[in-house]
Amino acid sequence: MSDRLPGFSTLAVHAGAQPDPTTGARATPIYQTTSFVFNDADHAASLFGLQAFGNIYTRIGNPTNAVLEERVAALEGGTAALAVASGHAAQVVVLQQLLQPGDEFIAARKLYGGSINQFTHAFKSFGWNVVWADPDDIASFERAVTPRTKAIFIESIANPSGSITDIEAISTVARKAGVPLIVDNTLASPYLIRPIDHGADIVVHSLTKFLGGHGNSLGGIIVDAGTFDWSTGGKYPMLSEPRPEYHGIRLQETFGNFAFAIACRVLGLRDLGPALSPFNAFMILTGIETLPLRMQKHCDNAKAVAEYLAGHPAVASVSYAGLASDKYNQLARKYAPKGAGAVFTFSLKGGYDAGVSLVSKLQLFSHLANVGDTRSLVIHPASTTHSQLDDAAKIKSGAGPDVVRLSIGIEDKEDLIADLEQALGA
Ligand SMILES: *Cc1c(COP(=O)(O)O)cnc(C)c1O
Repeated sequence: MSDRLPGFSTLAVHAGAQPDPTTGARATPIYQTTSFVFNDADHAASLFGLQAFGNIYTRIGNPTNAVLEERVAALEGGTAALAVASGHAAQVVVLQQLLQPGDEFIAARKLYGGSINQFTHAFKSFGWNVVWADPDDIASFERAVTPRTKAIFIESIANPSGSITDIEAISTVARKAGVPLIVDNTLASPYLIRPIDHGADIVVHSLTKFLGGHGNSLGGIIVDAGTFDWSTGGKYPMLSEPRPEYHGIRLQETFGNFAFAIACRVLGLRDLGPALSPFNAFMILTGIETLPLRMQKHCDNAKAVAEYLAGHPAVASVSYAGLASDKYNQLARKYAPKGAGAVFTFSLKGGYDAGVSLVSKLQLFSHLANVGDTRSLVIHPASTTHSQLDDAAKIKSGAGPDVVRLSIGIEDKEDLIADLEQALGA
């Protein structure tokens, strides 16, 4: 091998994987086993005491999952990663390492509807208090900082609106406040945006979406950038203080720039339990091999569909950052020059009823609650994913009553446009 650093497409196919040392199997095997035999009693003791790395039990780690973790860490430019059962599980595990009951975190108001619910209701029952800020108003993040703030959470490309977040500006706020910036990079994938290059300390994904990419497997992942100093001021005791579960080890002192990923595994995943099935890890790994090809096609199709909709008389507005006229186009050029993603919204002059009617008339688009599938998808957020929010909150999160969300697949763009044409025209 030359000493050239491998490019993104090469990493998408190879990072973390090698032929199986015992069988020669070229594709990563599915290690469908709950547990792993120890070499001897000393080996077992050192694994349990975190003095050696190795497999113990699939709730804590699994060799198929390990390939997925290494691959996504490489694609995102992080030091280590931890795969879990879903995107939501990734969010719980990350925040459990950072917040004590009564603490706060600041979150961008434009988020996936499920995350708004999780932060508002489930996390409140843990004593973790979310404080909302407006990603289009950087000063609102600054104003939200208090002595109890432990993290800032944003989406790189927001779901459902498709708006682009100024990651660097918010990372400056996080740095000043002395808290880590967590970026949910689900809608961009590392092919379009690598948040760590722009100052993120932690990246989370729903692997369920573009990384897996085929609408067949749930999964989530946490990537540690290795950039944050957890030892300051006793603010992050899970990382800086002796852990009674592990003979008084201090995770930051012992594991340095991948201490956060270790904490997520040995404190979060081990004790909360949302482990990813190795079968799902295999499906998602297979998806990632074609990520660069799919993502480019997703974006090219999305741009063509957005341009078509922008010229349609039944359409009031299209919110796609890839359009030159869009309010987020400057940010898209900076952060996502290869394409502005494939999830975006548009609004219909006919309002709520027109939205409901459109989803029922589309044939090639599937009406369902997911994004990032090879297939094109449509949903009317106001009557589904965002229906629990009141009208003001719907509008603030980009899901007003007249708004329809599309996730553009990798079919022929002419067929997608023809389907929209018949559904809008009829
Ligand atoms: C789907 C999604 C999630 C949640 O992921 P699950 O795998 O469904 O738990 C989180 N963030 C974003 C942006 C999503 O689209």
